[in-house]
Amino acid sequence: MKKFRHHSYFAKPRQEQQYLFPHVCFSCRKSFKKPMRVLPRLCPQCQGPMVMLNRKFSAPKMTDVDQWRKVEYLVSQGFRFQSIREQPSGLLVRYPATLADAKLFVKRHAAQVR
Ligand SMILES: [Zn+2]
Repeated sequence: MKKFRHHSYFAKPRQEQQYLFPHVCFSCRKSFKKPMRVLPRLCPQCQGPMVMLNRKFSAPKMTDVDQWRKVEYLVSQGFRFQSIREQPSGLLVRYPATLADAKLFVKRHAAQVR
C-alpha cells in the first residue's frame, strides 16, 4: 500500500507567491506589499513604476518627505535594504537615519552593491 501524504506536504506555487515584498512608488511616497514578479509592477495609484525592496524595508509616513528622499537616494545607489555588512568584521550595518548619513553610508559600502 502506498504511503498517504496529505496534500499540504507538497509545496504549492501559490504559497510561494504569497511571500510579499514592499514595492514603493516615489511619486506617491507609498509602499505596497506584493509578491515578487519578473515584470516591473506599476503603482496602483499613479501607474508609475515601482521599485521592489527587501522585506526588511519599512516605509516612512507619506508626509515624511525627507525620509522618502533618503530612501530614493539609497535605492538610486543600489541599496534596496538588503543586509550590508561591515568589512572585514561581517557585522550588520544599520541603514542611515538621515540623507546626510546616507551619503556617507553609500560612499563606505558602495562596493557591496556592485
Ligand atoms: Zn504612485
